[in-house]
Amino acid sequence: MYYRQVKDMVKEALFGKTLKELQEIVKELGFPAFTAKQIADWLYKKKVNSIDDMLNLSKKNREILNKAYHVGLSPFDNVQESIDGTRKYLFRTSTQKFIEAAYIPSENRKTLCVSSQVGCKMGCLFCMTGKQGFQKNLTAGEILNQMVSIDERDVLTNLVYMGMGEPMDNIDEVLKSLEIITSDWGFAWSPRRINVSTIGVVPAMRRFIEESECHLAISMHSPYNDQRKELMPIENVYPIEAVIETLKEYDFGRQRRISFEYIMFEKVNDSTEHAKELVRLVDGLKSRVNLIKFHPIPDTPLTGSKHKTMEAFKEVLEKKGIIATIRKSRGEDIYAACGLLSTKKLLKEDKEKDF
Ligand code: SF4
Repeated sequence: MYYRQVKDMVKEALFGKTLKELQEIVKELGFPAFTAKQIADWLYKKKVNSIDDMLNLSKKNREILNKAYHVGLSPFDNVQESIDGTRKYLFRTSTQKFIEAAYIPSENRKTLCVSSQVGCKMGCLFCMTGKQGFQKNLTAGEILNQMVSIDERDVLTNLVYMGMGEPMDNIDEVLKSLEIITSDWGFAWSPRRINVSTIGVVPAMRRFIEESECHLAISMHSPYNDQRKELMPIENVYPIEAVIETLKEYDFGRQRRISFEYIMFEKVNDSTEHAKELVRLVDGLKSRVNLIKFHPIPDTPLTGSKHKTMEAFKEVLEKKGIIATIRKSRGEDIYAACGLLSTKKLLKEDKEKDF
């Protein structure tokens, strides 16, 4: 009977708990208060994968902890490497869905792009994740697992929340994961090494600005309301002007960066008029613009702008004093477009189930 109870009990993950949550756990279990900090050290500094490895906890306390908890890291399911060095990791979640993380090395940075949700409910026209629909919010532990369960975990210099999902639609867990990464008792990263993207969900974006110090990237993709509504349905709820007006209310200081992401679609949003309207829109807000080449995805009429057009667009912005960069396309040969790999895997497994 006892064996069955223990066997059937689902153990809770310690990885992804804040120091405050660990303090509550150790208090409940009757451990000395200082063990919370010791457990945080094993989880976030030494990155162990088993409670038995937490050697400065007494054997008895490890046994007690083991009964209801486990560390809770999960290995990646698959990895694909691009000829340009980008590595795309696929993780299976507890609900048998898939999420992706992309490791993107460059000369002076080793960046990891993480997912915050399985699927997404925002339905942007150009996005493969949007086509999956929404499946689930990731927990802070599942977000951070992408950072520590990859081969390059010890060389990462930067982190971007630009994978699957809209981070502001899962703001509680995203903020919790950021607290763990940036706290002294956690990974102790500077918030300046982290960039979180949003399509502009204003109330959650306010919380992010007020409760974290990380950089913020706004996906704009068109300065015109009607066109943006077609590309990104969120425009119906929070127009881009409202997003920009909200940003103008805050003082971001010298260190904190606001950027606009602008995916360039051929003959859709890449004209000189678009560039001029973009300049008008961001006037008075200290920010920069990243122009991104579109990775074509199946079943969409959109194609990526030519490099020449992107250069001309950039020039218009720069002439008006806006810092603009053209982002290199990375990992095209392994479907680095967010959501494509996991959608393929889902479809493959669904097909296999049908037989
Ligand atoms: Fe969701 Fe981002 Fe894709 Fe839009 S672009 S559907 S917000 S994951």
